[in-house]
Amino acid sequence: MTPAADLANYVAQKFIKTAPPDLTALCRDLGLRIREVPANGFDGALVRSKAGQKGIVAVKASIREKSRKRFTIAHEIGHFVIPHHRNLGNICEDRKIESFDRHLNQPEIEANEFAAELLLPSALLRRRFNLAEFSLAQISAVAADFETSLTATTRSYLTLTDLPPSMLSLRLPLQHSGETGPLEPCGSQVARTAARPERLEKTEDCRAAREV
Ligand SMILES: [Zn+2]
Repeated sequence: MTPAADLANYVAQKFIKTAPPDLTALCRDLGLRIREVPANGFDGALVRSKAGQKGIVAVKASIREKSRKRFTIAHEIGHFVIPHHRNLGNICEDRKIESFDRHLNQPEIEANEFAAELLLPSALLRRRFNLAEFSLAQISAVAADFETSLTATTRSYLTLTDLPPSMLSLRLPLQHSGETGPLEPCGSQVARTAARPERLEKTEDCRAAREV
């Protein structure tokens, strides 16, 4: 587990009493307030008080998906509590949040690792997942329970399972497919990246998904 994920575990054990975590209550306990703001050019931002003991988590109001909004808040909480992020400017663009691209700068990688572990704690997932089976039904059920995206939930599954890459293939239909059109884009995406979770792309567009 990474240091950022370790810190998320510590914060969760100390402050979180519910599953999925009540992020508003957590922010209050940490000295943060959440504000939804009209925003252009960023999805989340952290504004610290001068003394650094309090702050505001600003979240783009027009983010539609609850899971995405929650991940953004958790990401900004990460910037607030990770000690060496204290002197950073924290304006976080859309593409840097809930991305597991190892080419992001280190603070963004750490904030995403923190958020993923805060929202999808490994200890709970080990009991919740059947790690011997990779299925969309299972990923979807956990994502619904933990109020997380399919992307983040799949990534968490992949970090825990010992299944070989050949067993890590989901095939999902295209978005907007009232038709039975080609299944390749989403399915091939997951299959291609499954063995390297840090390269997972968004799978949210794959709605009405089914396993094949
Ligand atoms: Zn950030």
